[in-house]
Amino acid sequence: MSDLGLYNIPYKDLLFEADFIRNIPYVTGESDPVWNDCSEQWKVVLPKLEQYAKTAAALILEPVLQGAGGMKIYSQDFLRRIAAWAKTNDIHIIADEIMTGLGRSGKLFAYEYAQIKPDFICLGKNLTAGWLPLSAVLTHNKIYDCFYDDYTKNKNFLHSHTFSGNALAASIAIKVLEILEREHIAKKSHDLGFYMYDKMRVIANKTGLLKNVRHIGALAAAELNVDTSQERAGYKIYQEAVRRGALLRPLGNTIYWLPPVTTDYVTIDKLADITEKAICRVIS
Ligand SMILES: *Cc1c(COP(=O)(O)O)cnc(C)c1O
Repeated sequence: MSDLGLYNIPYKDLLFEADFIRNIPYVTGESDPVWNDCSEQWKVVLPKLEQYAKTAAALILEPVLQGAGGMKIYSQDFLRRIAAWAKTNDIHIIADEIMTGLGRSGKLFAYEYAQIKPDFICLGKNLTAGWLPLSAVLTHNKIYDCFYDDYTKNKNFLHSHTFSGNALAASIAIKVLEILEREHIAKKSHDLGFYMYDKMRVIANKTGLLKNVRHIGALAAAELNVDTSQERAGYKIYQEAVRRGALLRPLGNTIYWLPPVTTDYVTIDKLADITEKAICRVIS
């Protein structure tokens, strides 16, 4: 489902042609005016979408924050508009909340920012806080009921495997959900994000080596302010940061912080310090 060569080239021969939505109204965070109003960009996107109004089965998206695509945040107004358009045309909305879900975005689910109702929600990653692999797809009864009935009616979705129950991972997930609520993780994430954003802006101002600093929930990101001759800068910064004790994992030249949402502020200070030193060391 990706438009990134790194992820889809190995499967190229198996994939069908896909069109991707361009002109996405990216923002720096909730204080960006476009966050609440993307009417200008929508004028460009809507005519392109309309081509698919009669044929599309589903719209799949990462609500508000695109992860591996470069830690890009887009307008909640855009999400609201595109979801409304999909509903009007009877097109299912599949929300990939694998990264953004369960508190990371500053809300329990990132789609809540746009107050929409997806038909499917994909969860993974933090569903077990990383302790065991587990993923889940949630849907509503209207869809669920299409697949389940008396087995004599040949309607059952007979897809199973030996360990699909996965009791151990499921019990961890239940505990994670309990902690999520009890410790107000979404709120923590929201607060931590503001702290990280400030820290990253300080580095940007001090060094002049970061641009487009942005954040939502417990994610802060920025692009390295370097020309294309320094294409490998992100990778070198990763190596330098690891040497100094932080696992930074830039996406190309996008530097980002996505720490566990329970991380304390002193650790963020250290992370900021290492990031700054690694950047200055590599780009001088
Ligand atoms: C990590 C990630 C995936 C892949 O999830 P797996 O459970 O590893 O297959 C899909 N979508 C997003 C947004 C992710 O961050």
